[in-house]
Amino acid sequence: MTNNREKRSRLADRTDRGFDLEARIDGRKERGLRRDLTPVESVSERSRYAEDPGADQPVFGKRTEMMVFASNNYLGLATDERVQRAASSVADSIGTGAGASRLVTGDTPVHRALERDLAESKGTERALVFSSGYAANVGTITALDPDVVFSDAYNHASIVDGCRLSDAEIVVYDHCDATALADAMADRAPDSDESWLVVTDSVFSMDGDVAPLGAVCNVAERYGAWVMVDEAHATGVFEDGGGIVQREGLTGRVHVQLGTLSKALAAQGGFVAASGPVIEHLSNTARSFVFSTGLSPPAAAAARTALSIARNGSRRTQLWDNVERLRTGLESLGFDVLGTTHIVPVLIGNRTEAMELATHLEEAGIIAPAIRPPTVPDGTSRIRLAPMATHTERDVEQCVAAFERAEEKR
Ligand code: PMP
Repeated sequence: MTNNREKRSRLADRTDRGFDLEARIDGRKERGLRRDLTPVESVSERSRYAEDPGADQPVFGKRTEMMVFASNNYLGLATDERVQRAASSVADSIGTGAGASRLVTGDTPVHRALERDLAESKGTERALVFSSGYAANVGTITALDPDVVFSDAYNHASIVDGCRLSDAEIVVYDHCDATALADAMADRAPDSDESWLVVTDSVFSMDGDVAPLGAVCNVAERYGAWVMVDEAHATGVFEDGGGIVQREGLTGRVHVQLGTLSKALAAQGGFVAASGPVIEHLSNTARSFVFSTGLSPPAAAAARTALSIARNGSRRTQLWDNVERLRTGLESLGFDVLGTTHIVPVLIGNRTEAMELATHLEEAGIIAPAIRPPTVPDGTSRIRLAPMATHTERDVEQCVAAFERAEEKR
């Protein structure tokens, strides 16, 4: 009571009811959390930091070509001529923006064609594209409106935000631990007639590890829960250009396969692949779909071409060769390399040391940022490497050599 009254009188004394953003910005700087936007000239595996024409003075002063080991453009298709041509020809024929929600006048043949291709690739009845993977997660979880969501502790922020925006009770289970999931379900089971959703990333972006999807499905099936898998980092990269759901043969057991068009599929946007009723429901009730302009047609065209290259081409083989070369090279130098996928995080531990290593790498012409708390737990700072299909053997060797030299300087 007293506290509330004190707080009220303190607030009444305030002359400025704004937000004191300077203090918050300074606070972030003091805690080492402030980050800069850093424009680059292109999104290919080699790029330069870009000049900012609006700046009073050159922002970076660094104009040398850098090798990019930090992009999610895993197959290097965002600068592939076929993909670029697909986007520009649809910009010419259909237009650059959808102009309205898909439910109004923003629905075009290229959206439909992409959705058919995605559904075919994912082995589902239908698919629906959103303006981003973030919007797809938030819209899907809220529209399903589960009573309880069981969510992996390391799930992406857009899943976390979808859970928070929904009215569901959120049960967070230990990362990649199907036994912990089973225990959490067993604790609730006896008098439960609620709807349950299990949601997990398939490939985790900061650890490069893979959810035990088969075990997750087994547990979920025991209780009749639905399973939703976010394949943002996996789509296009695994079996036949699919994700982990395809690799593990779980297509019929996962109720919602979600992904993004912005990583291996080289464009922008998100999608859900699922049964007819799920897609019908989402297209009418997912607020981030209904109340948002349709995906831009050129992005849809680019993603469609990228998907067909990912499914049929040799880009995946090139990517996995590079992954293998990078993992083996770093491990033979004694680095602690996490995960088992095309995301190659190198565990350093201490946040300052990770930042120093990132600076050494940058001086050697390699862009590979340090990932620190709060993004990852204290004491687990790391360099997150993401090789691309378009890196050459020599590029990867240079990256490994740069780690070796940086290590000698430490
Ligand atoms: N899910 C996961 C696992 C992601 O890593 C991301 C993006 N980093 C998203 C969803 C969001 O996708 P988008 O960038 O298309 O909004």
